[in-house]
Amino acid sequence: MVLNEKESVGHVFSKEPEYFEWISACRCNKCGQIIIIFGDAQFDHAKEREMGPEYWYFDTQYYNCPNCGQSIIADLILTQYAYIWDCELDLSGAEKIHLEGLRELAEIKAHYESILSEKRTLEQRILILQNRIQQIKDRAESIKIYVLIVEGKDDQVIWEQFLKREGAPMDSIEIITYGKGGIDEAIKAATMFRGRVLRKIPHKLIIDSDNNIKEVESKLKKHGIRRDNFHILKEKEIEAYLLDEEAIARVLSIDITELKEFIKKLKGARGKEKLDAIGNRFIGHPPNSQTKGLIARAIKEVPEEIRSIISEIIKVLSSEIMEEDYENDLF
Ligand SMILES: [Zn+2]
Repeated sequence: MVLNEKESVGHVFSKEPEYFEWISACRCNKCGQIIIIFGDAQFDHAKEREMGPEYWYFDTQYYNCPNCGQSIIADLILTQYAYIWDCELDLSGAEKIHLEGLRELAEIKAHYESILSEKRTLEQRILILQNRIQQIKDRAESIKIYVLIVEGKDDQVIWEQFLKREGAPMDSIEIITYGKGGIDEAIKAATMFRGRVLRKIPHKLIIDSDNNIKEVESKLKKHGIRRDNFHILKEKEIEAYLLDEEAIARVLSIDITELKEFIKKLKGARGKEKLDAIGNRFIGHPPNSQTKGLIARAIKEVPEEIRSIISEIIKVLSSEIMEEDYENDLF
């Protein structure tokens, strides 16, 4: 059980907090007394991984059982990687009874409400706890976030522009990459979002088709990735959606007639290859992420396939769909 006053459990942070307040209910090994353990997990270190840094937080708390005096030590290890939080609580002298999520928090609340009249000394703490529960609950219900998992940095920049153009709420969308790319990395990334999460996060994996959609699709299904949680691009790669002559001519300051003639000769080349060849010919190098972002911003219309994905994201973020799907996982 991990709580934090500033942000709620399992929330996706764009900036890393320095510490967390956390709370757990534990049972004394000697007499069975239930004890609430509070702590502050401080930021300790970050470790670079394929999809960005993994953040580590630690805390140790020492207690004596108020009933029998047994000494209790609680060690908390919290990690955050790719916007997913994981926590581990090690106890000596006590046994943890809750560490699974907000549902259990509600149970702790109910438990303490029931003993409130008998254990007057606990009253103060329980009131604080109740307040916190309400805060967390309110916040958890108000959070709306969507994670888009794309293959690499270029895709990240291009998607950002497409999303902005379609008026998507950028504050609620995180675009993350799945490392070196490739279907296996993508599966690893998508699997993380199904794993031990404190709060479910709506997400979608965007995959280059590489011309074998059927094979990619069956591999994803085999790994239990739900149909709602992935989209295989009809085109080979995201760059194929940027092949708009007018936009490219404008961004790279090329004469449009000259560009059209050059493109004609490139027939058959792949999306990225084609864009790279244009860059090599007219600006002396393949377009970088920034240039690709500018092209995405300049094309007359966001491609239909991309638009339908974005409108689905906006719908999830703005309607009750998300509440219906995720409500049950909260309480
Ligand atoms: Zn005890």
